[in-house]
Amino acid sequence: MADYTGYLPQPTPETQPYFDALKHHTLMIQRCNACARAYFYPRPFCPNCFSFDTEWFQASGRGTLYSFVINYRPPPGFGVEPYVIAVVELDEGPRMMTNLVGVEPDPERISCDAPVEIVYDDVTDDVTLPRFRLVVTTTDMLPRPRPSGKPGPSGEPRPSGEPRHTSEPRHSSKPGPTGEPGPSGEPRHTSEPRHSSKPRHSGESRNPEGA
Ligand SMILES: [Zn+2]
Repeated sequence: MADYTGYLPQPTPETQPYFDALKHHTLMIQRCNACARAYFYPRPFCPNCFSFDTEWFQASGRGTLYSFVINYRPPPGFGVEPYVIAVVELDEGPRMMTNLVGVEPDPERISCDAPVEIVYDDVTDDVTLPRFRLVVTTTDMLPRPRPSGKPGPSGEPRPSGEPRHTSEPRHSSKPGPTGEPGPSGEPRHTSEPRHSSKPRHSGESRNPEGA
């Protein structure tokens, strides 16, 4: 926390309640009493109907990922790792620019419209910044283990061109059984999603399909 060198906000009288609430791990935004619309960033009048009849209220901290971009060249003071700049649409309606955290900065792991929730990042003793993380991580979003040095995919049934011979002798009285369980000698390729066949970040020149 002490070695944080990134962006630090300079609260104004209009934004001070917002930052004070973040310090207490609460997201406070504003709502217009004239048109009932919530809005963000903080300001003393409604951006929709320009009424000054506004109030603060506690937002849920939940929303969906409206848009994102991955910054591969962080500016000075922001570290060296890529990070995700996100626009989150809060459940209350307003959108806010933030960071998506807790996920690999890989476009294949991040989907727009994914549900997100707020994470309070205490970057200094005095400043807390709002980040967001994915709420439901589907299997597509979870980091998949990279293929190790094993030769060939494991767990896949070995294709054998021959039909299976069971120990049971086939009774000739029955007509040919058509409902035999199991694949008829064809290798199944459905266990792995197609797009994972090319490891993008691997320096090794493995060719999974050349086996
Ligand atoms: Zn209004």
